[in-house]
Formats: sequence, C-alpha cells, structure tokens
Amino acid sequence: MSSLEQFVQVVIDSPSPYTNLDRIYVHNRILGLVGEDQPVEATDEQVTSLVDALVKTAVQNGKIEDAQSDRSILADQLMDLVTPLPSILNQRFWDKYQVSPKAATDYFFNLSKTNDYIKTRAIAKNVSFPAETDFGELEITINLSKPEKDPKAIAAARNQPQDGYPLCQLCMQNEGYLGRLGYPSRSNHRIIRMTLGGETWGFQYSPYAYFNEHSIFLDQIHRPMVINRQTFTNLLEIVKQLPHYFVGSNADLPIVGGSMLSHEHYQGGRHVFPMMKAPIARTIDLGVAGVEAGIVKWPMSTIRLVGSDVVALTDAAVKIHDAWMSYSDESVDVRAFTDGTRHHTTTPIAYKDGENYVLDVVLRDNQTSAEFPDGIFHPHQDVQHIKKENIGLIEVMGRAILPARLKTELVEVENYLLGQTNQMAEMHQAWADQLKATHSITAENVTAVVNAAVGNVFARVLADAGVFKWDDAGEAAFAHFISSIN
Ligand SMILES: [Zn+2]
Repeated sequence: MSSLEQFVQVVIDSPSPYTNLDRIYVHNRILGLVGEDQPVEATDEQVTSLVDALVKTAVQNGKIEDAQSDRSILADQLMDLVTPLPSILNQRFWDKYQVSPKAATDYFFNLSKTNDYIKTRAIAKNVSFPAETDFGELEITINLSKPEKDPKAIAAARNQPQDGYPLCQLCMQNEGYLGRLGYPSRSNHRIIRMTLGGETWGFQYSPYAYFNEHSIFLDQIHRPMVINRQTFTNLLEIVKQLPHYFVGSNADLPIVGGSMLSHEHYQGGRHVFPMMKAPIARTIDLGVAGVEAGIVKWPMSTIRLVGSDVVALTDAAVKIHDAWMSYSDESVDVRAFTDGTRHHTTTPIAYKDGENYVLDVVLRDNQTSAEFPDGIFHPHQDVQHIKKENIGLIEVMGRAILPARLKTELVEVENYLLGQTNQMAEMHQAWADQLKATHSITAENVTAVVNAAVGNVFARVLADAGVFKWDDAGEAAFAHFISSIN
C-alpha cells in the first residue's frame, strides 16, 4: 500500500466523520491537496510519518512552497481529516464525562496527540531535570520545542492589524482556522465548551506543552486578563469539574504576568508542581469560618487557603487580593501605586486535596526602579544569564522554563569548568568562576554540579520575584500585611 492509501485507511479508521463508503472521496480530497504526481513514500506507518510524506509530495508537485508556514498549514489540513467535527467531539467528551472526568480528558488528550495538535515530537526535544534546593526539589526545563520562526513570518506577524481575524491566538475563532504566514495553522484544532459562572468557556490543550496534559481554559469573549472574585470562583469551578487537574491564572499586569494579557485565560493540567508540595511555614487567621490559612514555605510570597466550602474559600481569597491591591510598605519596597499606576495583583492557583479544595494566592508587585529597571520583584541582573523573562504561573509553581540558548551554553560552561577549550559566553563568567572556586570538578561530576547550580539560580530567581523575603525584615513585613487584612 502506498503512503497515500495508508493515510486514507487511517482517516476511515479514525473518529472522523468518514467511513469505508467515503474511501474514493477521501482519496481524491487528499490528491487535491498534495497533487497527483511524484508520490513520496514514508519509511514507517506512523500517522505523522504518513503526513510528512504527503507534505513532501505536495512540495514536489508545487502545490505548496517549501516553507515552514506552508508545510504546517497543509499538515494540519490533512490531520483535520482524522479529527471529529467540534460538535461530535464535544458530545463524546461530555458522554465520557458521565463515566468520569478522567475518562473525558483522557479521550480529548489522546485525540489531540493523535492528530498532532499537541506537538509530541517537538516537545520530546525539551531538556528537563530535577534540582534540590533550600525550597525542595525544583523542576528545571530548557524549552527547545517551539519552531524557529522564519524572518518572513515574523515580518508578517508584525504587520498584522490589531483588529485582524482571529483577534488573537486564544480566541475561539481559531478552531479550524487554516492559518497564514505569521499566524499558526489550526485546521485540526478543537475546543471543548464548558460553562463557568453562567458563561461559555473553551478548554483545549497547549500545542507546546510545558508539563503533562498542559491545558488552556479560555473565555469565549476576547477581553483582557483580570483577577477578581469571578477569577477565584472560576478556578474553583474548574477543579470541581476536573478534580484531577490543577488550574491557575497568570497575573493581570505586565512584568509579573504571562505573555498574553489581552485575552482572559487560565492554564491547568495533570501535574503536581513543587509549590503544591511545599509545606505551611505558619498558620494565620483570616477570620473566615471553614477556611484554614497559612503562609507557604516558598520563595514567592504565597498564602494557602484550604477548605471544602468554595464560597468561603473565595471570600478569603478576595479578602487577601483586595487588601493587597492597596497595601504599601516602603520599608520593603512594596508599593501598591506610584503616580497613580497600579502595581499590585495576585497569581492564584487552585487544586483539590482529597475532599478539600486548595487555593494558593501569590502576591505580586510589578514596580521598576533605577536600580532594577526590569522589575524590583523580577530576576535581578546577576541571575539574568540564566533567566530574564517574566516569572509567570508555571515558574511561580517551581517549574523553570529556560531559554533554548542554555542547552549549548551550559555545555560550554562545563568545558570551561573542566579547563578545556570552550566558547563560554561572558555573561556566565562570574557564575562559573564561583562554581570553580567552591567545587572540586571532574568529568564525572561536572554535569551534576552545573545542573544543581542552575537549580540554585532558579531558586534565587523565585526569591527575587517574592515580595516578602525570608529574612527577619521580610517575615515581619509579611506578618504586618496579614494583620492588615480584614
Ligand atoms: Zn482573543
């Protein structure tokens, strides 16, 4: 059987609308997309390999240009043929949900992998290792999965009007969108509809997942990120509906938030992050019946709320959030406003622990200063050789997402530490010299030494982003803030 015929069989066997009677029709649809001549044969029967071969056929036949954007658009059009329609998928998801929430997400997650919406092959390139620190074991990842954008695509994205279609990559309008130069292809993209607080929200997986079953929950309406009572309510409602998932929201301010502030969304998934394992350092009393509260032993200033009553938990979270929005303490550089500009918000994270709900509320402050132009509570200059990007939700919870450049740069640091010829970047010099002075380094232990040191730098990065430090002044200031909540 040719790769084309094999792929036709995959389409017919898939949960797509097509059956055996549609065989000729599907065959001709594919010929229309890839051309009739010069078929390229795949070396194995994996669906992704078959699609790769069909894309190469299309290039040879001049159906598409041999460019990343064109190849991706066609690959996703082919993968669309193995994917159910949104209406059918939603019905199957909620049918399976009656069996169990996990059965429903297993179905959707596996489907999103099978149709290559989740870029499993690219994600496999990521580097990840654990690192023991003063705050427990942190998770270090180097992100190598996102494809390099070609300059033409970057230029096209830059020239795109702000009122384009779809308005942004988190809009529902991406479902089935063909894509274009500078805008991702989404023919095989599907979104589950769910109801939160009487409104329709979408649930999808992240194509370039940072952890297991990395999900995105998105507002049906394109409107800016905001953290308020409804946010806490929505997060708790999501973990009520999907109790095997955590969910959190990035902050609604630049520097301390994520990269997409223009469309309200949350991120979740099936992963236990280091912060979720961190213990309570001391309990506190917020005066809300049915809620246990405490300060988490964590580099970022975090108050943990535990209880089974979601309304009481929401009340407690709102109390903290509202108090923080107007709270200043000059002695530790904490200022809610400067010149009328707001600096305070929170990063909330919800998950279940047995019958209880847990709501972790992380205090954020996005001020900049002459000394710290990138942010007072942001990685400081001496750790920016490892991480200078915003500390968003995933990193707040103790999973570092480090830039791709570090994969090769850290090898050069190892070469330097071993006294071998190297091209170590100058920005790593001070750090490497300190490692050299404090460790006896051998070829056997050099990788472990560097990995552990990266873990310690990441712990420092999180400590920089924490508003109240773990020293006498910081702990007293945190206690003072707690006592101001009423
Ligand atoms: Zn949008």
